[in-house]
Amino acid sequence: MLPVARTSKSRKGMRRAHHALTAVGYHSCPKCGHDRLPHRMCSRCGYVRPDLGLILRDKKKNKQQDASE
Ligand SMILES: [Zn+2]
Repeated sequence: MLPVARTSKSRKGMRRAHHALTAVGYHSCPKCGHDRLPHRMCSRCGYVRPDLGLILRDKKKNKQQDASE
């Protein structure tokens, strides 16, 4: 089926008024200063919150270990 009436420039504009993207709100890691998302682990040092830090493995080393095994 076809649209009953052509959408006017005004209607199109009003619809698209809600299409704007919002900027990603990066926070800096308190431990190393790297950009990270709030409530997410820091990809550089593994920091999550003061009582929790994750130990990151080197991806290249893991691949080499997997290949040798
Ligand atoms: Zn960090």
